Amino acid sequence: MKNIKKINNNWIKKFSYPLIISGPCSAENEKQVLNIAKDLNKSYVEVFRAGIWKPRTKPGMFEGKEEEGLKWMVKAKKKYNLLLATEVANKNHVKLALKYKIDILWIGARSTCNPFTIQEISDSLKNSKNIILIKNPLNLDIELWIGAIERFIKNNIYNIGIIHRGFSIYKSKKYRNQPCWLEVLKLKEKFPNIPILCDPSHITGDSNKIYEVSKKAINFGYDGLMIETHNNPKKALSDANQQITPTQLTEILSKILLKKKIQKKYINTLNIYRNNINEIDENIIYLLKNRFISSNKIGEIKNKYNLNIIQKDIMLKQKNKYKEICKILNLDELLIQKIFDEIHKKSIELQLNKKKINTKIKK
Ligand code: PEP
Ligand code: MN
Repeated sequence: MKNIKKINNNWIKKFSYPLIISGPCSAENEKQVLNIAKDLNKSYVEVFRAGIWKPRTKPGMFEGKEEEGLKWMVKAKKKYNLLLATEVANKNHVKLALKYKIDILWIGARSTCNPFTIQEISDSLKNSKNIILIKNPLNLDIELWIGAIERFIKNNIYNIGIIHRGFSIYKSKKYRNQPCWLEVLKLKEKFPNIPILCDPSHITGDSNKIYEVSKKAINFGYDGLMIETHNNPKKALSDANQQITPTQLTEILSKILLKKKIQKKYINTLNIYRNNINEIDENIIYLLKNRFISSNKIGEIKNKYNLNIIQKDIMLKQKNKYKEICKILNLDELLIQKIFDEIHKKSIELQLNKKKINTKIKK
């Protein structure tokens, strides 16, 4: 598909690493929204999430506060300086979310399953610069997920990211939804730039397991986490079992981020040495090329004047010199000897076969 490379990851670079999105499963009332936002404002969270339209299993359950909830979110944004994110599941949701300038729109797992829904949402966002996060479909159908991403790209929507929220798999016991880490990482092969977030709340369905899955996601190189928080999780009107308090979130994140910071420092130092080695190796190759050019010239002269190609005394003198240098530098003499034996072999071969080495260096 054309335009895959246009998927933009600049949007995520504007946030801290990893990007943390948090807030209640559902916006329930103004006080709840403002209290949670106030507590999150003190932590690492940069984006406040809340569900406004809730896709519930059965009718009669709490289905969200709709436009009223959006107004509470806007208040929270002004007061606590957090960006906003909510789920949209049709074009009317998109219209309202844009009216209230919600910064990030996410597509829920149930919507990603349905190409008609995705098409409708994508059409209503044509050419949009908004950040759109696409959760995986409920079922482990990666192609369906890819299809959803492509429906956005086709409408020139490039500020996108994906959220791994686990898959509903028959007999999945450990968690509410089975994480499929390797399958999800395969999406990076298809969309190399796409930022990947993890939603440990919907994967685990269990407030006690948020830490273990969050840690795993960060270790897999995920760009961010979306974690549900509530000021009174037990009383939450949706997803009560999996929500944690903002204080618990801070504890979890400090453990993960502290480790990450240490790792980052270590990785930076490693990279300095790696780059250095790469440069040295490249130089060795260039020097070898020059060496072969010189030995080629020697070969020409030897052949012209019928001199011996192999001049043992010179070779021995050189070998002794290398040994001396190895002693000074405290280098393994045998190793250096082996390397030079190979180089000499090649030089002799070039001279004996009267092969002319191509002196050109392609620019
Ligand atoms: C949610 O984020 O509250 C939600 C409904 O998520 P999902 O679509 O992953 O079930
Ligand atoms: Mn939820």
